[in-house]
Amino acid sequence: MNPKNVIVIGAGVGGLAAAALLAKEGYAVEVIERNLEVGGRARVWETDGFVFDMGPSWYLMPEIFENFFNVFGKTVSDYYELIRLDPNYRIFFGAEDIVEITADLEPNLNTFESFEEGGAQKLQEYLGKSKETYEYMMQGIMYKDLDSLWSMFSPSLMKAGRKLHILSNIDGYVQKFFKSDRARKILEYPIVFLGGNPKNTPALYSIISHIDYNLGVWYPKGGIGKIPEGLMKLAQEQGVEFRFGVEATHIDVKNREAYQVQTSQGSIGADLVVVNADYPHSEIDLLDERYQTYPAKYWEKKIIAPSAFVVYLGVDRKLDQLTHHNVFLEYDWVQHFDQIFNQPAWPEKPAYYVCCPSRYDSLVAPKGKENIFITVPISPGIEDTPKIREAYFQKILSHMEKMIGEPFQDSISVKRIFSLKDFSEDYNAYKGTAVGLTHTFRQSAFFRPRHRSKKVNNLYYTGQYTHPGIGVPMALVSSKIVTDQIMHQMK
Ligand SMILES: Cc1cc2nc3c(=O)[nH]c(=O)nc-3n(C[C@H](O)[C@H](O)[C@H](O)COP(=O)(O)OP(=O)(O)OC[C@H]3O[C@@H](n4cnc5c(N)ncnc54)[C@H](O)[C@@H]3O)c2cc1C
Repeated sequence: MNPKNVIVIGAGVGGLAAAALLAKEGYAVEVIERNLEVGGRARVWETDGFVFDMGPSWYLMPEIFENFFNVFGKTVSDYYELIRLDPNYRIFFGAEDIVEITADLEPNLNTFESFEEGGAQKLQEYLGKSKETYEYMMQGIMYKDLDSLWSMFSPSLMKAGRKLHILSNIDGYVQKFFKSDRARKILEYPIVFLGGNPKNTPALYSIISHIDYNLGVWYPKGGIGKIPEGLMKLAQEQGVEFRFGVEATHIDVKNREAYQVQTSQGSIGADLVVVNADYPHSEIDLLDERYQTYPAKYWEKKIIAPSAFVVYLGVDRKLDQLTHHNVFLEYDWVQHFDQIFNQPAWPEKPAYYVCCPSRYDSLVAPKGKENIFITVPISPGIEDTPKIREAYFQKILSHMEKMIGEPFQDSISVKRIFSLKDFSEDYNAYKGTAVGLTHTFRQSAFFRPRHRSKKVNNLYYTGQYTHPGIGVPMALVSSKIVTDQIMHQMK
């Protein structure tokens, strides 16, 4: 019997992972991607000797990557070399007010003790709970197919849920341990980069601290782009075919079965379709209304994750004040959150993040130069014009120069801004979101859009919109769940 033909729409991390897994199961898989590069949000832009990771820069949860490659009898080191970063990151509370979180726990305990009396012990307790929650998540929720309500409300999950404070928010939860503003900001800020607001993100996501402090912050030599590159190689080794610069324009369905994908370069027959492209785009633009499980009005009611104001800079000298990951938290961030989620506007006093991978990696910038990536979370759907972008860039740059105590505007030789409009145009992102759907309680786990269409039997979805959610490791897990579902259905 000929293997069944699978079309995967999108070569983001989720699409690559699903393609490799399905090919391993004996399917004939073809991936179509509208852009010319592999990786989706995690793709790379190369220019003048600089290698810019366009989206993700934090390599967290290394065991998920290892688990994934192990499915194929491979290991991560067959595809790229991982380095553990130290310090994990530097936080600029002010020009002369800088805190480092280190790979070794001891200095971090001292740092938290300096924030408030008993801070060291509180951090240890907090991390102990975070570890417990993480282990529970990994065993009970992470890889689980939560497409059925009953899976979510199993007695063991309910019992654990109460213990793990599923219903409280992370801001309130952190405040039960810490009084100091700094401790709270440090423990809560990663939520922002996961597309959430600490005031409505479940406390379950406090696992991020165990991930950060205990499991460590890692980096693939040569950049995050090594991940999609490695996944594509793995997929090709399984026999997957790739076509870039090909956009899906419609999924044709008959008797609740998808049988063909129309594309910018003709139609392709399919026995099974796996969509990695943004979920709202796929449902609203690629399917006839009667086959949409989640029509336009569903998405209108959802809390869409922030877009991002991203800047890639090539700087013709070294900036020793920066480490690999740098977070700028001078201002009270309540206003920033308000301008993302409640009163959409360009943030007046933003919290932002700067990655400088060339500090320790000579492969991503020419000798003596720095590769800089700035990102500011902004509200989806706000106005984005060249004039606004330039003014905003100047605002961030002058603040950053003040914080690091060194002007470097004159040394910038490469500059590219990538923001809301680019997310819409390059990825078909709904309202220009950078990362999809926020992780509120009602948009997490069982409540996230399903992996399998309810209206089309052989149509599946993978990636950041589905469980377990936003982030590169999560996209890998999502594809494992989808593949297991497909194999189960095909039995
Ligand atoms: C600025 C930024 C910073 C981030 N930082 C981190 C981080 O540090 N660590 C981390 O783990 N995660 C981070 N993330 C999140 C992470 O990048 C994403 O969650 C993950 O890469 C999403 O992968 P995906 O496979 O779900 O989707 P995508 O990467 O969006 O892939 C979907 C693909 O589908 C393609 N497509 C869309 N429509 C069509 C169509 N009609 N036809 C054909 N192809 C189509 C798109 O071009 C895209 O390539 C960040 C994201 C951004 C944007």
